[in-house]
Amino acid sequence: MNDLLKKLVEAPGVSGREEMIRKLISQEMKPLVDELKVDVMGNLIGHRKPGKAKGPSMMIAAHMDQIGFYVRHVDEKKGFIRFVTAGGFDPKTLVAQRVVVHGKKDLNGVIGTKPVHIMTDEEKRRPVKLEQLYIDIGLPGKKTKELVAPGDPITLVGDFREVGDCWCSRAMDDRVGVYVMIEALRKVAASRKAHRVDLYTVATVQEEVGLRGALAATFGIEPQIGIALDVTLACDVPGVGEHEEISRFGKGAAISILNGSLISNPLLVEKFKATAVKHKIPFQMDILPRGGTDAGAMQRAKTGCAAITISIPSRYIHSTVEMVHKKDVKACIDLVAAFILDESSGSYIPSLK
Ligand SMILES: [Zn+2]
Repeated sequence: MNDLLKKLVEAPGVSGREEMIRKLISQEMKPLVDELKVDVMGNLIGHRKPGKAKGPSMMIAAHMDQIGFYVRHVDEKKGFIRFVTAGGFDPKTLVAQRVVVHGKKDLNGVIGTKPVHIMTDEEKRRPVKLEQLYIDIGLPGKKTKELVAPGDPITLVGDFREVGDCWCSRAMDDRVGVYVMIEALRKVAASRKAHRVDLYTVATVQEEVGLRGALAATFGIEPQIGIALDVTLACDVPGVGEHEEISRFGKGAAISILNGSLISNPLLVEKFKATAVKHKIPFQMDILPRGGTDAGAMQRAKTGCAAITISIPSRYIHSTVEMVHKKDVKACIDLVAAFILDESSGSYIPSLK
């Protein structure tokens, strides 16, 4: 079992309402950094100062928000709740899921639809639409109205499980990235070696609704190097061609060449590859045609920075059974820690001169 990762995926934090998860990360990060603060958007920013020889500033970002919903409307008569989404969903993954409505108190609920028995043939054929779904908390309308109001956040239930060589849960995107960031920091702290980079570790908000927190945090920090830690697709599953796999389970840390929000700085890509080779850390290359990461915002903030994403391969992204392989998680921690501690990363500012 992995107690910290379990705690991280279990703490609620729908985009825009990250207060609970921020509290937990704050406790974990505090002993590992010199300073810790929260900016106005809610990004949690740790600062670990360099040794005597100061190198470039480096910002590492992992988003702490998770996909979820907000209450839109409560049916006064029957108590059913309609919702809007925060983040991208495949509606078919939502049918018959359990949820928690974070109203005046936490309320268990389920996402309901019309039973198959009373569907017309036409309805059976048509894919389910988000607008058809509703939440049932098993209470009458009046009681529901007392406890739940528009704007209350809602999270999906998906218990943390060890599955074979993997960990599986809701919100693995991107609590596993936060976990990698904390554990890499812990490794750096334990090494007792002074690093040259001026290091900022940021648990960002509102990534799932458009990289919003990272943009504001990067404006404040103005790093020269930006590294996002996030999940990438592992489509090494039945029915997908080899050329569409993107990444594979158990093959190591995924060094991102490009995704839907950024083309990584090519010199940083080379630098990360060289670091992995030097320290014998397993790695694979990652090209994600769609979907973005915080590095996309970091690259474009102010006058820009050299940015890259280091990804953790994940199956079943944006569902309640997001899965990661233990070996890949370890490789990501080792790679990020090695990059921070690397002597040459201190004097290394990638440019395209
Ligand atoms: Zn993510």
